[in-house]
Amino acid sequence: MSEAEFNWFLDIDLDPELNSYQDNFNKLVSFFKRLKVSNYPEVKKFAQNYKLQMLSLDPIIESFTSKVCPYCGTVCCRQKFALPNREDIILFWALGFKLPRYDLKRDINSSCQFLSYTGCNLPRLCRPFRCTWYFCEALWLQIEINSPSYNIEKGLKRLRNARDNLIEYIIKTIAV
Ligand code: SF4
Ligand code: SF4
Repeated sequence: MSEAEFNWFLDIDLDPELNSYQDNFNKLVSFFKRLKVSNYPEVKKFAQNYKLQMLSLDPIIESFTSKVCPYCGTVCCRQKFALPNREDIILFWALGFKLPRYDLKRDINSSCQFLSYTGCNLPRLCRPFRCTWYFCEALWLQIEINSPSYNIEKGLKRLRNARDNLIEYIIKTIAV
């Protein structure tokens, strides 16, 4: 990879609130299409760890969201939260996911295209990381009432570390 290309990759700002989102999204997706994840065996190991952490947290988080979210009057799932940022696209590539078809024409402040009557239609691993990382006050209260919150805090810390290690490794690896 040329230095200019790598600098572009480091600097790219993939923020759904910006007009440049669609253009940068397309560029980043084609950038990763050219890199075959199978050529990076170590990425697979880091990705597996991230996947394990996410899959072990998923049922715990679901057990709380299922008690709170169906009764929420101000559902937080907006289209802008469904659109992946740079790190999400890196993670999806490492996990070998095919990206869902994002509705880039949809108003970013309207409800998320993946939101259904039964909650999110995407498996947790295919959602942007922010969807898992966000806990509103009511949700956090539910956690504190029903289980020692340090259990979930420990799991979240492990998940965050696994994600950060994976992204850091990929950025270092593709720079060569
Ligand atoms: S996480 Fe909180 S704000 Fe979002 S839908 Fe659930 S209860 Fe509502
Ligand atoms: S959790 Fe699912 S429905 Fe909610 S914003 Fe994220 S992708 Fe959309």
